[in-house]
Amino acid sequence: MYSFPLSLRKLIREIGKMPSIGEKSATRLAYHLVYRNRELAETLANALKEAVDSVHLCSKCFALTDQSVCSICADPSREQGVLCVVEKPIDVLTIERTGEYKGVYHVLHGLWAPTRGREPSELKIEELLIRANSGKIREVIFATGATVEGDATALFVANELADVAGIAVTRLAQGIPKGGEVEYADEITLARAFSGRGTL
Ligand SMILES: [Zn+2]
Repeated sequence: MYSFPLSLRKLIREIGKMPSIGEKSATRLAYHLVYRNRELAETLANALKEAVDSVHLCSKCFALTDQSVCSICADPSREQGVLCVVEKPIDVLTIERTGEYKGVYHVLHGLWAPTRGREPSELKIEELLIRANSGKIREVIFATGATVEGDATALFVANELADVAGIAVTRLAQGIPKGGEVEYADEITLARAFSGRGTL
């Protein structure tokens, strides 16, 4: 009985481990790279290696960067006293596209999800509290999605921040549809959500 060569089967298995890629798509992609477009396979392998070697988390806000501090944290024209708290690095990109927000960020790298065994200690909450306690922060804006987990995380962290004097804690409320994730909100909606943010 025929089956693909071992190395090709291994490639299909690895591609299939990526989000939203089933076995059929993995097979099609592997076939395309190995047989149809070998040049793409080379450049893709190099690009992958380069990205993995150079991309890491910003030491201040935990967004993705290839420097020690990301370009937003390093930008003196940004309001360093205003922190926007987001779930994942891609949310920074989404909010930056609105062009409305002039503060800096804090990426939690997840949400508090007790049903999925995700505890607050696994998120960058401790790091957020350290920043909040530095005396340089005057507003923390929660831009976590309008989901149960987004709500729970925002409330949990807001509670922790309640002890820090002189910080306004706000939340993007208007505009993000119930159950909606920041990543999928459109730019105009997000911009409106920023100007209409409410106290948490
Ligand atoms: Zn940064």
